[in-house]
This record gives sequence, structure tokens and C-alpha cells, in this order.
Amino acid sequence: MIRSNLLADSHGRVMRDLRVSVTDRCNFRCLYCLPETEEAADFYRVKSNALRNPSPIAREWKPRSQILSFEEIERVVRIAVDSGIQKVRVTGGEPLVRQGVEMLVARLADIRGVTDLAMTTNGFLFPQKGRALRQAGLQRVSFSLDSLDPANFKKITGRDGLRSVLASIDLAQELGLHPVKVNAVVIRGLNDHEIEALAGFARQKNLSFRFIEFMPLDSGRAWQKELVVPGREILQRLQARFELRPVRSSNLSETAKRWSFADGRGEIGIIAPVSEPFCGHCNRLRLTADGKIRTCLFSLTEPDLKPLLRGGASDETIRERLQEIVWHKEERHHIGEPDFVQPERTMSCIGG
Ligand code: SAM
Repeated sequence: MIRSNLLADSHGRVMRDLRVSVTDRCNFRCLYCLPETEEAADFYRVKSNALRNPSPIAREWKPRSQILSFEEIERVVRIAVDSGIQKVRVTGGEPLVRQGVEMLVARLADIRGVTDLAMTTNGFLFPQKGRALRQAGLQRVSFSLDSLDPANFKKITGRDGLRSVLASIDLAQELGLHPVKVNAVVIRGLNDHEIEALAGFARQKNLSFRFIEFMPLDSGRAWQKELVVPGREILQRLQARFELRPVRSSNLSETAKRWSFADGRGEIGIIAPVSEPFCGHCNRLRLTADGKIRTCLFSLTEPDLKPLLRGGASDETIRERLQEIVWHKEERHHIGEPDFVQPERTMSCIGG
């Protein structure tokens, strides 16, 4: 039963955060997301006797006609914001490969009620796009950076891009996109030897750095529990090297547990969806590039808003459909349990 305009689910959670994927395409081929290289196959064969059952779906790019236009995205965001969404994050695939994405950002920045407009990007194209994005009204940016070693960076992403990403981080700070966040997915045997170096980098550059556990959302279907470095282990290693102070937060829906460095420069956060799930406070919703709504990263169904958007439905009808979808949001994910089923679409299609 729906009692208000808000996007509330049947477990008492109200949605405040909308991730908007603007494309399913990406210019990187990260081992844990959309691997393509021989190195990926080699790594997983050695580490986990995989790639066992690669999903073809991630690489079947959606035809342009199925991808939402900027007008359609803006309309969904307006309706969602009118229904209580406050934070909007533009993501992908790689959002910067979508032509004119800064025009979408400008449209979203104009929506009253958006208190936080952010983007997640691999940073490769940010040196060319950063200023325009800032001018368009982008408030914050999160970069993905899993390695500070050029060879390992290339092994992980399939691209020779470390220098561009480092330049992007500097530029974002220069542009005042504060705080600049940087995310690293930690995978055992791949980049876990860099945990301390990445944290040192966060401190040196005064960044908000997030270590994220590897989730079973890879197109290679190579995820194995043994490849996950639990958040607890990451923290213990960092505490052995740095003096860290817990950062208290009243925001229960925050995904990261955070620590600041004793000298006050930079902070680290640990996002541990596998070993310490935080579903009970999840207030996130995702709109995929092809107009589907995902109520959980691990949803097995994705209701499609396109027929309504393209079939002349009123805003009120779309809002009611959204409310109905949200009402059925999954209580929690089931990673590691016998009934866990990996979703067909991968992080690159879902929008991280
Ligand atoms: N292309 C952009 C980027 O690289 O930041 C945005 C999309 S990417 C799918 C969003 C985030 O998802 C990135 O930080 C990436 O590292 C993370 N990610 C992708 N696959 C993942 C997985 N299997 N487990 C954990 N995080 C993952």
C-alpha cells in the first residue's frame, strides 16, 4: 500500500539516492567488470580456475534506439526528485564516453531538490571534460583507481591510462570538486599488495579514498570468495601502517566506514558489501542506460520504464510505477548463500 509521494519500500526504507547510468559502454576493460584481455583469462585461471562461464550479455551494447535520451533521463530524475530523491550520481559504463554528457549534467543541475550531483568515472577522458562538467554544475566526482603501478594498472584495466587518471585527480581538486573521492576494488593476488601505497597516496593528495570488496558482478563470472579481501583485513593492514581515527557519521545509509589520518589530511573508507552487508539502510535506486529500474545491484528483475516514457504516460503514472517498483525492493542481497544467483547484467551495464 502506498501512502505518500515518497519512494518507500516494504521494509521501511525511503529512497534518497539515484544512480543514473548514461551508457553501457566503457573504454576500459577491468578484470573485475568487463574483462577482455588474455591477461584477464590468465589471472583468473591461475587464481580461481575461471573464466568459467563468461556472460555474453555485457558486451552486447544496447542499440542507440534503446538508450534513453537526455530528455528522458531528465524526466525520470525530475519525477524521482519530486518523490524524495536528493542525491543523483551520473555513472555508466563510462559516463564520459556518452557524447555531450555535460549537457545532461547541466539539465540535472537545474532540477530543484537535487542536493548532491556527482559522477563516477574512470577518469580517462576527464582532462578533456572536467572544466565543462564543472561549469555545467557537477558538484563532486569519484574516480576509480585500482593501482599506482603503470604495469598493474594496465593489467587490471586493459588500458595504458594511469597518467591520465592521476592528471584527472589533480584537475578535479583544482576545479574545487570537493571532496574528490577515489575508489579501488581490491582483489587478492591482483592489487592487494598496493593497499598501503594507495592509502599513502590518499594522505599525500588529501583524498577521500574508498577500498571496495570485489562483488560477483563481473562479466567473466570469475568471482570467487577467495578473491575477496575482506574489509576487516584491509583495515587491519592500514592500522598497522597508519594512525587512523574513526570518522563518526549519523548517516546510516552511508556505504563506507571511514577513518581519517591522524594528521588530518585525507581519509579512507572501507566498503564491504560482501563481508559486512549494509542492505538494511540501503536507500539507493538505479536507472540503467536503457531505462530499467534496479532496486538492488543484485536484482534479478529490472522493470522497464521505456514503454511508459515512450508511450505517452503522464508524470503521475510514471511516479506511481516507480513507487510500485520500489515497494518491492529486495530486503537484502544473498551473496555467499546457496540460493545466490549472479545477475545477468554486470556492473558495467547496471551503473556502479
Ligand atoms: N566507468 C566508471 C568508473 O570506472 O568509475 C563508472 C562505472 S563503474 C561500473 C563504477 C564502479 O564500479 C567503479 O568504481 C568500479 O571499480 C566498480 N566495480 C565494477 N565492477 C565491480 C565489481 N565486480 N565489484 C566491485 N566493484 C566493481
